[in-house]
Amino acid sequence: MRILIANDDGIYSPGLAALAEVASRFGEVRIVAPDVEQSSMGHAITHSRPLAFRRTPLLRKFDAHRVNGTPADCVALGAFLWKDVDVVLSGINLGPNIGNGIWHSGTLAAAKQAALLGLRGIALSTPTGKAEPDFAKLDPWVERVLQLLLPETSLRLVNVNFPPNPTGMCWTRVSVRHYDGRVAPMADPYGREVYWLAVRPIEETERGTDRWALQRDHVSITPLQLDLTDHEALASASRRVQLDEPALADQRVPAPATGAVVSESEAEEEVAESEASAG
Ligand code: MN
Repeated sequence: MRILIANDDGIYSPGLAALAEVASRFGEVRIVAPDVEQSSMGHAITHSRPLAFRRTPLLRKFDAHRVNGTPADCVALGAFLWKDVDVVLSGINLGPNIGNGIWHSGTLAAAKQAALLGLRGIALSTPTGKAEPDFAKLDPWVERVLQLLLPETSLRLVNVNFPPNPTGMCWTRVSVRHYDGRVAPMADPYGREVYWLAVRPIEETERGTDRWALQRDHVSITPLQLDLTDHEALASASRRVQLDEPALADQRVPAPATGAVVSESEAEEEVAESEASAG
């Protein structure tokens, strides 16, 4: 099994090394990760400048490369340069990726990029306190998660979060009732007002969600999908307001096929299209 590993904390993150170590028990590992931290950069793709791809011997045990780009760039490039990737693992992120925060997660974006390419993507994260996470303690739990998820080929995109001291694992859904983002105004050293986009703690959690699992010291495993369409809203809107093509409404299209192969002519068309619509 060919396992491509990326992250958003950068190639020198201890979480990346911990994940590569566990993943190497399951197959052949290659690391392609950003050269500097790209946390909360979401699913950005670099299209206005070329990307560098540099071998990084610091991670001696692994075939590791750093890219001056985003987490999604790393997966796009990694999957292009290393054929027949079976699965992309992203993490282990230093910080949780739960609830509505997954919208700007770079860790999850790397896994999503895999799913967009017709590969499988698994994002793995853990909260950080005052100290660095204890990756030796998490090791058997990461192994258990990979043992469970790697053979489950029908799960194309999965978001996994590890509490600092796991006591069990559970399937969860995304906690979407609250958003933990906030703006913190403060003064710079010259007394001028500046703003820090920060996180506010959320106390209330709904049973069965990712946040709920972490609060109960359980590893949270959330299967995700690429389709953001609100199918109920679409059905209801198209019943209430007839537009020009009523027959087209609410026809669900499946996610990209497994290992979808794009022919060169199709790829060229897509490039032309994306160039036309870039920006
Ligand atoms: Mn991060």
